[in-house]
Amino acid sequence: TKCLKGGDFPKGELVHFGNVELSPSSGVLNYGQGLFEGLKAYRKQDGSVVLFRPEENALRMRMGAERMCMPEPTVEQFVEAVKLTVLANKRWVPPPGKGSLYIRPLLMGSGSVLGVAPAPEYTFLIYVSPVGNYFKEGLAPIHLIVENELHRAAPGGTGSVKAIGNYAAVLKAQSAAKAKGYSDVLYLDSVHKRYLEEVSSCNVFVVKDSIISTPAIKGTILPGITRKSIIDVARSLGFQVEERLVSVEELLDADEVFCTGTAVVVSPVGSITYLGKRVSYGDSKVGAVSQQLYTALTSLQMGLSEDKMGWTVEL
Ligand code: PMP
Repeated sequence: TKCLKGGDFPKGELVHFGNVELSPSSGVLNYGQGLFEGLKAYRKQDGSVVLFRPEENALRMRMGAERMCMPEPTVEQFVEAVKLTVLANKRWVPPPGKGSLYIRPLLMGSGSVLGVAPAPEYTFLIYVSPVGNYFKEGLAPIHLIVENELHRAAPGGTGSVKAIGNYAAVLKAQSAAKAKGYSDVLYLDSVHKRYLEEVSSCNVFVVKDSIISTPAIKGTILPGITRKSIIDVARSLGFQVEERLVSVEELLDADEVFCTGTAVVVSPVGSITYLGKRVSYGDSKVGAVSQQLYTALTSLQMGLSEDKMGWTVEL
């Protein structure tokens, strides 16, 4: 394949939020050649602002760009662009404990292509927005339904990168689930329809007898940065953590289930519905392990505990 490599990312400019001009024949509009990232800036008690592991988002966007035949920004270019955008919007970072500034980098094929091919030109942009909790429940249990027919990713596809089209694939099942009162959808693997993959926008963990397990990264789920961080935090707290195939039977038999993601942070799961059967966890209370991991991660992100991992980046 002829993929653009490297590319030059000329210094961008800061402009007011507004519409982007695109050719009707742009690669992104016609063939979905687009990628995005999501990360957050937090305000600490002393008023300073920190980013959480932005170089991880840069690396993931580079992997995605390689898969989608797009030029890759360097880690330095990506992080610098994020920093400049957040600095220009610093006043929008909410006070500690009141939310965060969500940062959305986008990379897309903006050049014209009529036949299916990589676009000849690319656009990289970043916009930001203050956010509160992703699920209206906050740190209260969410309710998931296991999807048995529709899939978000197939082996060899783009499921392990943050391709925009992956999110188009979840809209139908997610809308149906929300209309029935569920918070979101949990996907199974498309081959056996038996092993857990992830939720529309977060990774999933199950806890049984104090052992924490999560689906291994095998090409169909997004390698979440929160997932990776929670694995390290849990191990540092003495938990045994396993990355492997996790079956839906294990999910139904778990002591505790929780989801992780930049937007959802750590969200405890209160119930799972699978093939019409509902299983509840922990009497609608937040599970002890979910609570412990949520507190450990958020205190580190907000500067309430010492950042022994070196994960926060001061602006
Ligand atoms: N899976 C999917 C499909 C997602 O969209 C996200 C959010 N980026 C995640 C998992 C969690 O990834 P992260 O912890 O990096 O936000």
